[in-house]
Amino acid sequence: MPDVRFHRGEGLPLEMHKARIVQKLELKPIEERAASMAGAGYNTFLLRNSDVFIDMLTDSGTNAMSDRQLAAMMMADDAYAGSETFYRLDETIRRIFGKKYFLPAHQGRACESIISQVFVGPGSVVPMNYHFTTSKAHIVLNGGRIEELLVEEGLDVTSEHPFKGDMDTAALSSLIDDVGAKNIPFVRIEAGTNLIGGQPFSLANLREVRGICDDRGIMIVLDASLLADNLYLMKRREEACADMSIEEITREVSDLCDVVYFSARKLGCARGGGMCLDDDDAYLRMREMIPLYEGFLTYGGMSVREMEALAVGLEETMDEDVISQGPEFTAYAVGRLRERGVPVVLPAGGLGAHVDAKAFLDHIPAEHYPAGALAAAFFVASGVRGMERGTMSEQRDEDGSEHPAHMELLRLALPRRVFTVSQLEYVVDRLGWLYENRHLVEGLRFVEEPEILRFFFGKLEPLSAWPERLVEQYTRDFGDSL
Ligand SMILES: *Cc1c(COP(=O)(O)O)cnc(C)c1O
Repeated sequence: MPDVRFHRGEGLPLEMHKARIVQKLELKPIEERAASMAGAGYNTFLLRNSDVFIDMLTDSGTNAMSDRQLAAMMMADDAYAGSETFYRLDETIRRIFGKKYFLPAHQGRACESIISQVFVGPGSVVPMNYHFTTSKAHIVLNGGRIEELLVEEGLDVTSEHPFKGDMDTAALSSLIDDVGAKNIPFVRIEAGTNLIGGQPFSLANLREVRGICDDRGIMIVLDASLLADNLYLMKRREEACADMSIEEITREVSDLCDVVYFSARKLGCARGGGMCLDDDDAYLRMREMIPLYEGFLTYGGMSVREMEALAVGLEETMDEDVISQGPEFTAYAVGRLRERGVPVVLPAGGLGAHVDAKAFLDHIPAEHYPAGALAAAFFVASGVRGMERGTMSEQRDEDGSEHPAHMELLRLALPRRVFTVSQLEYVVDRLGWLYENRHLVEGLRFVEEPEILRFFFGKLEPLSAWPERLVEQYTRDFGDSL
């Protein structure tokens, strides 16, 4: 009998690659993990990577490169202006996305800064399926505000709706009626919606949004940073995409949008970013900003080596086997965590497993940062570094009061092609243990709180001696085992 556990989308994920370069890891004893977490102000962003066993903070710049990417890096053409490397990248991107122009930038948020400076002003309203931290920050910095018009199921942690990143199109129409099309510089659609658990939008929904925007003369800007997962999940979940190639789905998506921008730290498994578009006038206005903030037009802040890796990485993104790895590992992790009773965002999306800290630590109120406390507690319990995506990642309201997040998530990102099933089993086991001992974990409070994007540098302290109690319990249960 064949082993049916290797079906895509269920059972064991099967790697379509092999590892030929590896990096040694160290698993420090729990007392040292507790000390380094305290030293980092209970903020996993401030940990040193040498203190971390499995780094699931983010997929940003941490995906494994392929042999072909590394080989391409050796062939890079170094030049300030007119590098052959740039022309190779430019040609690849324009072919994949079918746009006339490509503008390079040093990373995704640089694109957001440029797009916001060019199109957003005081009084602007930018509707979007859901915000991302840096995309919102740049719109607000330029005097605009955002409106999140996610479908209702999107914020329901346990809804198994296949496209929780879809936009509520009725809400979009009525928002345009309310604020007027002239105050809406663009509608922003985010692929693989990051902050709600890597959830995809559907092609059908994007077509509907396009129809509405066409009627009102409004641009669509696609944040394609997490497009690879979105493409794979469209192909698996949307009937209309089942017989299309990844290349065809990409073109269809791109054709429905006016501007496509991305972080190449995620899309294409390299580092950098860029924007592509067809409109001559918008291109000229955006182009002016590149030498000012990024670098000359033929590198935009990227090294030639990264540009070579990106060109190859984007080609490889068009291969279904290559992009299957992220969502398949995520589905496996989510399935195993559910078996241990750990509350997770459903259905499994891209990017990683997202633990529902509101349900996990339902005794901790939003103002004591349940997702931040869970990230800190989990690092102590395992040496695994996740990221808080909850109230800490929000900014306070203008009157200084907390702005509770819709969701309190511990994100366990799965950098593509980096971890193994056994490492995931370790993650599942320690998180399962923490869930059984969740009553030991209490909240955090800020001792140093930056005003903007406080989650990056902010330092916190525990509200009680709960980390010590966690260490004691762990030592009793695990003794000298790993
Ligand atoms: C990471 C990310 C960005 C920002 O990209 P950087 O390269 O980190 O600046 C923007 N949007 C989404 C959806 C992202 O995941």
